[in-house]
Amino acid sequence: MSKSVSEINEKSSISELQKYVKEVNIKRGFSDETPQEKMLLMVEEIGELAKASRKQSGIKIDSSKNNFSKIEHEMADILSYLLDLANKLNIDLFTAFREKEVENSKRVWDSAKR
Ligand SMILES: [Mg+2]
Repeated sequence: MSKSVSEINEKSSISELQKYVKEVNIKRGFSDETPQEKMLLMVEEIGELAKASRKQSGIKIDSSKNNFSKIEHEMADILSYLLDLANKLNIDLFTAFREKEVENSKRVWDSAKR
């Protein structure tokens, strides 16, 4: 049985979100894209987040265009592609995040010297 959005909620784990994204992408016909294509699409979404952020921060925008989305929706798009890319590369994103945070916790963050 295929997943529906009603099966995910605020308590869903990263692993559950990865499974959800995998199934909906099969259902929606996006499962044949390569990791490189997924990466490009994710970078495009990062650009859309920058655009949405520009609008929110009051930086001048081209008012003739009406394609500015909400910041939170662009973040959701990025997350969706990140989960999708992790699936494509057989990466358990929670494990990767935890491992990297262990590394990050050992780093020393000095202020920049001028
Ligand atoms: Mg978007």
